[in-house]
Amino acid sequence: MDIRCLEGLRGCGGAGFAAAFKWEAVRREAGGDKVVICNADEGEPGTFKDGWLLRHHVQTILRGMQKAAQHCGATRGFVYLRPEYQAHGGILLEAIAALVEEGLLSAGSGQVYAAQSFPGRPAVLASSGLSDCALASLDWHVQHGAQELVGQATAQGGVELAPPSHGYALPPRESGPIPPAPSSGHPFRLDLCWGGGAYICGEETALLESMEGRRPQPRHKPPFPTQSGLWGLPTLINNVETFWWAERLLTGDCKTPAGSHRLYSVSGAVQRPGVYEAPVGLSARALVEDFAGGLREGAEVSCWIPGGAATGILPGSLLDTPLSPDGLSAVGTAPGTAAVVIYSQPTDPRTIAAQIMRFFAQESCSQCTPCRLGCRAAAAWLEGSEAFPQVEVEAQWLEAMELGSICGLGFTAPLVLRQWRRWFCSAEVPA
Ligand code: SF4
Repeated sequence: MDIRCLEGLRGCGGAGFAAAFKWEAVRREAGGDKVVICNADEGEPGTFKDGWLLRHHVQTILRGMQKAAQHCGATRGFVYLRPEYQAHGGILLEAIAALVEEGLLSAGSGQVYAAQSFPGRPAVLASSGLSDCALASLDWHVQHGAQELVGQATAQGGVELAPPSHGYALPPRESGPIPPAPSSGHPFRLDLCWGGGAYICGEETALLESMEGRRPQPRHKPPFPTQSGLWGLPTLINNVETFWWAERLLTGDCKTPAGSHRLYSVSGAVQRPGVYEAPVGLSARALVEDFAGGLREGAEVSCWIPGGAATGILPGSLLDTPLSPDGLSAVGTAPGTAAVVIYSQPTDPRTIAAQIMRFFAQESCSQCTPCRLGCRAAAAWLEGSEAFPQVEVEAQWLEAMELGSICGLGFTAPLVLRQWRRWFCSAEVPA
């Protein structure tokens, strides 16, 4: 398969890694056992475009996964889905069943598993409406952090539920030969795996740990998942939106060059919050005015988030900044997940920075001391429950987080405090 049309497409989950490079890296690995995973654990605050895609374009996403599997030589696939997206599970299973019927996926696709969650997390989830879940047994599984088969898509497009049992069953590595799919001739079995609700599982190696039944803590890299991922097999992990773009580019359905547009999640003090496809490099002001109907009546911008919580906060005076890697890099941040959140007066930017930092403190997996202690300390400083230390000491804390953290949560969290200092206070923390 010629994937040159994917050059320029960058991963849309936040890190922005070149998609074609990953596809090629997995394809070059030796052996026939490889895995493709769609990361649908959308948890970045302000970001909701993956959920929208799963609702409205699920077939495009799954066809993109099938093409990736065929290109890389992968025979197993999973959609790793955040548990808050209850209805999306049913949508996915019906779409999988339809693609089995069409002969694009192997018979037996549509198994459902529930991955491991953080200890303590299930109680939070159980109180957030999961009892209404379309997959009626999911709440039980999430409450118990269990991993086992809970249902299977039927050829008619429905879902057959297995009664909950008290056993644990990881997604099996060996399941016997996978039959070739009649239309493509390529064996590819695609299943669904529910996540446990941890933000850190958006990080691909934490996601793998969760699927393998361990506490989801990011792994040291290398080896990268493309070399050694699920069950130690070469594994391609892409975001929902990335597969959506890939399928449209490979089929010629996308009329714009790879990487020239993105799906923006726009929310906050705007007239029409929603998901909008727009060019990379347009300004937040143009996005709000031309796509989201403008600011809410009477609203004045207090601060805004350019690409999800991890990209920090900016002042209203920077609304004309191009939403591109270069444009946002010039103001100290990055496009992230392309989630633009507008806050209006009288919201205090310090309150927003404090809430983001508290979120990171709660979601840190705690294996790195600088991240574990640094996020908590920075949250307490911003909340005012602890006094800020001397500026030089604060800078040392932030530098320790940036240099001593294993994953992106720890080394991007200081950005929130740095941005608040830079744009909203007179005393900037020395770099
Ligand atoms: S940086 Fe934070 S979230 Fe990431 S591995 Fe370290 S402790 Fe866990």
